[in-house]
Amino acid sequence: MASVRLAIVGLGKIARDQHLGAIEATDGIDLVAVASRHAQLDGVRCFHEIGDLLASGVEIDAVSLCTPPQGRFSQAKAALDAGKHVMLEKPPGATLSEVHALEALARARGLTLFSTWHSRAAAAVEPARALLAKRKIRSVAVEWKEDVRHWHPGQAWIWEPGGLGVFDPGINALSIVTHILPEKFHLTRSDLTFPANRAAPIAASLSFETDGGIPVLAEFDWRQTGPQTWDIRIDTDEGPVVLTHGGSRFFVDGEAQIIEADREYRNLYRDFVALVAAGRSDADFSPLVHVADAFMLGRRIQTAAFED
Ligand code: NAP
Repeated sequence: MASVRLAIVGLGKIARDQHLGAIEATDGIDLVAVASRHAQLDGVRCFHEIGDLLASGVEIDAVSLCTPPQGRFSQAKAALDAGKHVMLEKPPGATLSEVHALEALARARGLTLFSTWHSRAAAAVEPARALLAKRKIRSVAVEWKEDVRHWHPGQAWIWEPGGLGVFDPGINALSIVTHILPEKFHLTRSDLTFPANRAAPIAASLSFETDGGIPVLAEFDWRQTGPQTWDIRIDTDEGPVVLTHGGSRFFVDGEAQIIEADREYRNLYRDFVALVAAGRSDADFSPLVHVADAFMLGRRIQTAAFED
């Protein structure tokens, strides 16, 4: 099987922090081009935008979209229309209808659409899923609190409509919870705190309930300075199951488990290569459904203006 010839679109923070190294470390995929308006990369063909890339005749099999969610639809559609497989950063898009349209388009064209959730590829997630399938769950509490100034300096798009505000990290927690809980769940309460000068929330307090009536609470906050918190605590009949550090560490009944080093993005590219080879897609939009529900059911609370 020939290597997948890949182009990255949007050479920003996550592309540089994670994608470049993961592609380099993954068998079966090679980076051959980049499309980015303000950035270039040595050693590969560089283009201003995806349209220039697709019109250039440079031979690629797939694109990995590392742009913000707003605008991602037209990039993904252009790539699928040109016969390219597509890997989407999270969140997969700005609306549910657009991501469903992409899924249908990929299916109609026989192409792979991989809607990635990097936190699902964290080391503790599959062991937690396997363990929870065997236990009786009593409650779930998510605390996802970080410092927006540290993690998103100068990023204007996260505060715009479709940028999701605090749900940009919060959806990572939801991508884990939707994967590890044996039951589906739905939203019952959503309190969203918006800075007076911003179109997206800086904090969210959410209550969900599983089909079997188990409470799932989630607190997302972008105002946490000092130590950062990315924890999921599941109380079970046999003791607590706790994922910390974004799903990379795991404690069962108070005991730390042995967990491999962080390989989230390597796992994603390994999976993308396998999906392309098998002619399959992986497009689970359930985390985005919960975020859409949170906006739909959200009570708006206004707080002080936020300045970078
Ligand atoms: P970023 O640093 O702003 O990079 C995104 C890049 O996309 C920009 O550098 C820009 O490159 C390009 N772009 C195209 N259209 C744009 C527009 N209208 N506004 C802004 N940039 C535009 O963002 P990021 O942090 O890498 O995040 C990108 C995606 O990855 C998001 O969906 C985010 O949720 C996800 N993600 C981010 C992180 C993280 O730690 N930052 C972690 C995991 C996932 P050009 O200007 O050169 O075209």
